[in-house]
Amino acid sequence: VENCVFCQIISGEIPTEFIYQDEKVAVFKDVHPSAPVHVLVIPKEHIESLNDTNDKLLLGEILTRLVLTAKELGLKDSGYKVAINVGKGGGQLVPHLHFHLLGGWKDSEGGVN
Ligand code: AMP
Ligand code: ZN
Repeated sequence: VENCVFCQIISGEIPTEFIYQDEKVAVFKDVHPSAPVHVLVIPKEHIESLNDTNDKLLLGEILTRLVLTAKELGLKDSGYKVAINVGKGGGQLVPHLHFHLLGGWKDSEGGVN
């Protein structure tokens, strides 16, 4: 979709170093990290928000890819957070569905919101 930052990342219009990608899912670092490790896991298909899909297979693939990424980034034992902002009132700034993977804090720092 035109003017969608994440579609532009997927098309290569905005250069990005992908941590992972396949036909359906892409993983890359957040440009403005709000944790020591902050990556985004997104569907390649333009889906505006969690309100706009009931594709269980795709949602499952995004979530399982996020968990695999967390493990690859060494977050399995230290722990991590998963966040999905939905709509303006939910803090969603980019209207292309994305799951935030946040972690890498020391000790229990990440437990504080
Ligand atoms: P949200 O508030 O849930 O919509 O989160 C959008 C996230 O996308 C924010 O954490 C931004 O820092 C991040 N973001 C915006 N533009 C880019 C970009 N070009 N590359 C990577 N992350 C981005
Ligand atoms: Zn998009």
